[in-house]
Amino acid sequence: MDEKRGKKTWVSMKFPASNKLSSLVSSINRNASIGMKPYIIPNSEEKIKAIEALGFNKDEDPKCVYCGEEMTCWDHLNSMTLGSKETEFITSISNAVPSCLPCNTGRGNIPYALWLRTGEKRAAYIRDEKKVNIENVIKKIDKYIEWSDEEIQKGNWVPYKADINRIIYEDEELVKLKQKYDSLKDEIIDLLKHASKIGEKIRERITKTSYPNYHKKGLESNKSLEKLKSNLTEEDLQPLRQIVDQFTSVKTLEEIYELKIEYNKLLKQAINRQLR
Ligand SMILES: [Zn+2]
Repeated sequence: MDEKRGKKTWVSMKFPASNKLSSLVSSINRNASIGMKPYIIPNSEEKIKAIEALGFNKDEDPKCVYCGEEMTCWDHLNSMTLGSKETEFITSISNAVPSCLPCNTGRGNIPYALWLRTGEKRAAYIRDEKKVNIENVIKKIDKYIEWSDEEIQKGNWVPYKADINRIIYEDEELVKLKQKYDSLKDEIIDLLKHASKIGEKIRERITKTSYPNYHKKGLESNKSLEKLKSNLTEEDLQPLRQIVDQFTSVKTLEEIYELKIEYNKLLKQAINRQLR
């Protein structure tokens, strides 16, 4: 029974997309947002101060704050964007922690505590294989943020967030520049969508010429997950809709991430019920 179900779920998995328009659009939005945020490059002294505040010995190479492996990059402690919206967080030494690349990419923009406690893949590896004490890691980072806040209050430390919207709207010239910036970004996205439609036409013609049976076999696999979703019963859809409604009222990254997990879990259960 389970084997059969597993196989069918596997068959419905999405095939690689032919273009990445939606991820390009979100990356343009993301870059536009990050591109206008404060970017404060730290000097060596500030880097050492951060490393020591995190409990590392400045005479040794710092380790990845999450897993304890060798540090190969800095990771934004608080994410710069949330979906297509920008957050108040900026790029500065007080919003960066030493990290390894797998932890940095594995975490993405998930809040660190939530990722360490519940995240899949790399986070699960840290929990299960590495025997790192997750709660101690979280406490250490929490303490670092507390320390940062105190030092910032005293004027001794670099900020990790900025009230970007207020600063823009209190400055007439900035308001105009921001409008220009946004409209250029929208133009780029429109052009990209236009180009993508032309690309699609070219692609279809070439596909049909090189593979005349395309319409008989082609489209089916990518549609199957969508088809499964569209066949869900009212009973299945009701709890999913309730979660979607909640998205409008949540405020923190933690809440959004938890809702996403819950939504995907319910969707998977509903699809599996349908396949039984
Ligand atoms: Zn790591």
